[in-house]
Amino acid sequence: MKLQKKVVTNKNLSKFNSLQISVKAKYYIECKTDSDIKEAFQFIKKNKIKFLILGEGTNVVFTKPFDGLIIKNLYKKEKKIYKNKVKVSSGYKWDRFVSFCIKNSLYGLENLSGIPGTVGAGPIQNIGAYGEEISNYIEHIEVFNFRTGNVETLNKINCNFDYRNSVFKKNKHLFIKNVFFKLKNKFIANNSYQDLKVYRFKKASELREIVLKIRNQKLENYLTKPNVGSFFKNPLIEKKDLKRLIAKEADIKFYKHNALIKVSAAWLIERCNLKGLQLNKARVSKKHSLVLINEDKKPNSILKLKNKIKTIVLTKYNIRLEEEPTIIL
Ligand SMILES: Cc1cc2nc3c(=O)[nH]c(=O)nc-3n(C[C@H](O)[C@H](O)[C@H](O)COP(=O)(O)OP(=O)(O)OC[C@H]3O[C@@H](n4cnc5c(N)ncnc54)[C@H](O)[C@@H]3O)c2cc1C
Repeated sequence: MKLQKKVVTNKNLSKFNSLQISVKAKYYIECKTDSDIKEAFQFIKKNKIKFLILGEGTNVVFTKPFDGLIIKNLYKKEKKIYKNKVKVSSGYKWDRFVSFCIKNSLYGLENLSGIPGTVGAGPIQNIGAYGEEISNYIEHIEVFNFRTGNVETLNKINCNFDYRNSVFKKNKHLFIKNVFFKLKNKFIANNSYQDLKVYRFKKASELREIVLKIRNQKLENYLTKPNVGSFFKNPLIEKKDLKRLIAKEADIKFYKHNALIKVSAAWLIERCNLKGLQLNKARVSKKHSLVLINEDKKPNSILKLKNKIKTIVLTKYNIRLEEEPTIIL
């Protein structure tokens, strides 16, 4: 196989995923420019190999060596403001972008402060926190289509945004290049989320500081306690099933989600007495029951632990928990 200039072989990925799992990628390329993206495209086309787009690896679980090309996104071409609209390239760090918007008096994203990862990964699972979702502020998205080699634009409707979901989850050949946001010129605090209700914010920067402080207290630092944030989504169930659950557990924690009910996955895990559970070299955080900490360079323990949690919750409540991070098979 003839290697392209920038493609390297046998790259260890332990520094490129927040679980610090040590697996090797057969091929690896860093994409900083449009020509790097084209080089990756040519390589895939020529060699007919599988590929994976990788941001900062804070929402992926590698399960074995990756027998294809890892496309590491470092694309930072533009960050441009036009009145209340911003075009931003996908390789920028998400939290630095949030801070940039606040400094430029553009509001809406402040509740999403402190979420690790790149701008380009944000739309994939429609990142959300503290009563906001990224999709509330996206106007359209520019992608490089790795099947055709074309650059395409998807408007918000075509992105099919939903709770931790979007069209991109099932279309892994679409590389998000640039995201176009429509933000607010006036700061109106969204303190609808329980933890924020007690505050009266005058400035977006104050809200950001509080969100960062709460996150710091509640979540585990992935640099010292390798994790991917919430390992499970809050399951969505039918209203009729909620009645059955309430009959069993009167204090079950839930929220309305359109025509469905969103049940707190953290509540389910805690009610099954799984908070703090250790299995070999992985454990459920004592601080936050949705966070699984990996104390190994291998994926075995964390995969066993998440399966055990799923089985116990299914047996007790007949609810199937779904993983939030992308499991790379
Ligand atoms: C401590 C911690 C706290 C977290 N808190 C939150 C939170 O509050 N809310 C929340 O929603 N998430 C949270 N997360 C999850 C994670 O930070 C987000 O999902 C983030 O957007 C992932 O960014 P990334 O660059 O690391 O993506 P990666 O992990 O590298 O990739 C995630 C997925 O997106 C795909 N992808 C990445 N970039 C692109 C691109 N440019 N084009 C196409 N596909 C792409 C990948 O193939 C993969 O499937 C948390 C994670 C950690 C470790």
